[in-house]
Amino acid sequence: MTTEEIYLNKKKEYLVKKVKAYNEMAVENKKINLDSENPYCSLCNKEICKKCKGYCCALKPKFFSPNDFYDISDLNYMREILNIGLISIFLNGEKWVIRPRGLLDKETIISYNPYYNSCCFYDYDKGCRLPMEYRPTECLLFINLKDRSTYPAYEKHIDLYSDKALYEYEIYQKYLQQLYEEYYNKKIDLNVSEDNINNLIRKMIK
Ligand code: SF4
Ligand code: SF4
Repeated sequence: MTTEEIYLNKKKEYLVKKVKAYNEMAVENKKINLDSENPYCSLCNKEICKKCKGYCCALKPKFFSPNDFYDISDLNYMREILNIGLISIFLNGEKWVIRPRGLLDKETIISYNPYYNSCCFYDYDKGCRLPMEYRPTECLLFINLKDRSTYPAYEKHIDLYSDKALYEYEIYQKYLQQLYEEYYNKKIDLNVSEDNINNLIRKMIK
């Protein structure tokens, strides 16, 4: 198996597990019908997000899960990812988490601003620039229930991830704190070209 296949399998398994756990608790008409071979059923599909005009993506970038990375405690791996300039370390309350860079993060990849911080991957004409399977777990678990024709689509979502994020990041705080100290003052240009996005993906899958 290639490193990309290993990465994608791990991500798929995680998504399927989370949705399964949700379905076990949900009432019948709120269950999610997930294709386990292709579990990327997030509402963030180009056509929908384009029509919706980024009700959420244009407001704030969602969280990656630690599971979206090979290993956050491998600081050299993380430095290679951060140096690309497309994702940021974000202080959510008192915990560091990782999310896409926001346009208001300005020159650095460190952020304290939770709101009005439009995701750098969002394009008003095309929706999300990041290929579906590489999007942050929170984007993929921000799932449309039924009516994909109603906007703002936000009201039709269920969010299966954000309350789990702080718990999942707990064991990585010391590594993220160290990266914060290295990067808080470092200026990194924002480049959302296709080449740079592909570069990010290559680094993430290792
Ligand atoms: S609110 Fe939903 S449809 Fe709209 S941009 Fe965000 S994820 Fe896409
Ligand atoms: S990565 Fe894509 S789907 Fe997720 S918040 Fe950013 S633009 Fe939206």
